[in-house]
Amino acid sequence: MTKVLLNDVLVDEQEAKVAFNDRGYNFGDGIYEYVRIYDNKLFTAKEHFERLLRSAAEIGLDIDYTVESLTELVRKLAEANGVTDGGVYMQITRGVAPRDHPFPTPSVNPVFTAFVKAYERPFDELQNGVAIVTTEDIRWLRCDIKSLNLLGNVLAKEYATKYNAEEAVQHREGVVTEGASSNVFAIKDGVVHTHPANNLILNGITRRVIQWICDDENITFNEAPFTLEFLKNADEVIISSTSAEVMPVVKIDGEPVNNGEVGPITRKLQEGFDRYIQSHSY
Ligand SMILES: *Cc1c(COP(=O)(O)O)cnc(C)c1O
Repeated sequence: MTKVLLNDVLVDEQEAKVAFNDRGYNFGDGIYEYVRIYDNKLFTAKEHFERLLRSAAEIGLDIDYTVESLTELVRKLAEANGVTDGGVYMQITRGVAPRDHPFPTPSVNPVFTAFVKAYERPFDELQNGVAIVTTEDIRWLRCDIKSLNLLGNVLAKEYATKYNAEEAVQHREGVVTEGASSNVFAIKDGVVHTHPANNLILNGITRRVIQWICDDENITFNEAPFTLEFLKNADEVIISSTSAEVMPVVKIDGEPVNNGEVGPITRKLQEGFDRYIQSHSY
């Protein structure tokens, strides 16, 4: 029987009910996080939980959770389901109150839910690369918050699905921001370029790991905006996320990148990523 977490308690998935007036349901008023499990250990969990606490603070959501308490909860969830390789999704909403836009007064208890899913690393795609499409970024101006409001991201991903692509890379007036659920990197003349971690993108933990690898390998990591044209003319292109890892892009809007071959810097970053899985899983 699949167990999920509902307000820190393990319950059977079928019995896990949330309220009709949950603000997560009415307004998308909440935040989430997604943590990878490799070989029964949590990968970069501290970074993920710190980001969850930051997201909560940024939306004025008061929670009692700490990095330590979240780690314990997520371990308990994985263990209860016997998941040793997979991912944990968790979200916290502002709680249950009659539908009204302002925060409830007095405040109500936040609602925490989490589930775990077993899956393997995407070895085929990591080896051969994936196709992406590009689309306009229509999201709000606080994309740095991992908010439950994902309508823009959902529409972008649906567009990718419609065109048989793995991801939709978004742009604001021709400046590349990020994917619907991933960060984007253009590699040109040995330099890794990616959008600065400001309000227009979600600062991915995988993005940070890529930055660490670049530092280790003396590869220049250039955080500066670049255009769609620059992306399409790059030597190599990567998308990154907790589930996609360091994912090579071999096609953009139907046109090959690097003649459809995965390039040498990408391979170096992938090897570095494997080392970080070993050194940063606890
Ligand atoms: C979660 C997310 C990412 C990737 O972040 P990771 O921490 O690497 O998983 C990138 N962009 C968006 C919009 C996201 O929601």
